[in-house]
Amino acid sequence: MKIVVLKFGGTSVGTVKKIKKVAEIIASYKRKNYKVMVVSSAMRGVTNELIKKSFEISDNFSVSEYDVLVSSGEQMACSLIAGRLIHNGYKSRSWLSWQIPIFTDGIHKNSRINQIRKKKIFEYLKEGGIPIITGFQGINNKGRITTIGRGGSDASAIMIAKFFNAEKCIIYTDVEGVYTTDPNKLKKAKKIKVISYEEMLEMASLGAKVMQPVSIQDARLNRIDIEVRSSFVKKSGTFITKRSNIINNKIVTGISFTQNDSKISLIGVKDKPGVAAAIFKPLSKNLINVDMVVQNISANGKETDLTFTIKTEDLSKTKKIIKENKSIRFRKLLLKKDVSKISVIGVGMISTPGVTFRMFQTLANKKINIQVISTSEIKISVLIDRKNTKKALVALHREFKLDKRK
Ligand code: ADP
Ligand code: ASP
Ligand code: MG
Repeated sequence: MKIVVLKFGGTSVGTVKKIKKVAEIIASYKRKNYKVMVVSSAMRGVTNELIKKSFEISDNFSVSEYDVLVSSGEQMACSLIAGRLIHNGYKSRSWLSWQIPIFTDGIHKNSRINQIRKKKIFEYLKEGGIPIITGFQGINNKGRITTIGRGGSDASAIMIAKFFNAEKCIIYTDVEGVYTTDPNKLKKAKKIKVISYEEMLEMASLGAKVMQPVSIQDARLNRIDIEVRSSFVKKSGTFITKRSNIINNKIVTGISFTQNDSKISLIGVKDKPGVAAAIFKPLSKNLINVDMVVQNISANGKETDLTFTIKTEDLSKTKKIIKENKSIRFRKLLLKKDVSKISVIGVGMISTPGVTFRMFQTLANKKINIQVISTSEIKISVLIDRKNTKKALVALHREFKLDKRK
């Protein structure tokens, strides 16, 4: 069976007119004799609206009800797509995750797909049907609805491609592919023809919203090749694949940035073993993810300053936890929201020295101060004032010759 999985994001199904266009794309694969499996997200803005409502009902809205609520947008989009295909003479129907079922494990709001029953869908495909499957949702072993994290329809599509052994998995979105940086932020961004899972994972985790990071981990583990392309323009997109399929590794493949980080500094912390652990333990217990960390060398051997970043949404919770933490003492607590993390990513960095220097020099030339640094084998991230994000992006994009990338 020649199966293709097509995933449509929120903007692609954002209006009735766009859904009609999506139905045409789906039909074009059917005409090429593919067994077509469709995964859809909710119409643009719907998930955000639902989340807003949950806050209005309660500032401590039940997580299991949250999943029922926020996954409902996908049901609406899927029935509209199926309805249009039926209108056009095709056999189609919506499939909600519990009807298949798609099983997940882990916690509410952030589950992972671990099993998909194939029987009913296979039968339906054999009958010539086009299943339109809700992305983002699943059920747990108690039969409750779960969701798999924001942007999770990408992971739904990849796991469906894995379980059904699909020949292709195509992510249809509102841009033509993965670019060297967000094309909506920088006009000079260039479409990348092919990118490795590792680089895509870093780009996504460091802020490129085009693919959900978990979905890339799933694709990499299961060796699922992905194509990201536009729902609106008929042009080839970006292939995400294993590193050995890429002949020409660039030093820097792309630049990502985040706008939702906050910086916390503890000034005058006792410089003795166990202090960092005492600060970070209660944060991790409360599922607060600490990202970049820097500790100053203590000048007098007694006191030091500790700086770290977290997601801005966790800021007030973090502040409370630190203030209530009796096991640490410090002189001053500084909180800074208006920071941005900018990262250059590329597997070519492994074999090319000097990328760090070029990045720092470029920022220095623009008089942009670096507040925190973190690196891995294939990326360098720095924390800067948020107001400098665009300036830094323009300069780094030029420095690493991404403006001229073919
Ligand atoms: P969908 O609704 O299809 O899932 P998303 O909004 O989640 O789409 O992701 C697409 C958006 O990702 C684009 O509109 C673009 O602004 C943003 N984006 C950020 N970084 C990149 C990048 N490097 N390449 C392409 N798009 C990017
Ligand atoms: N509708 C969900 C969200 O907005 C899932 C997705 O878009 O992939 O996060
Ligand atoms: Mg998305």
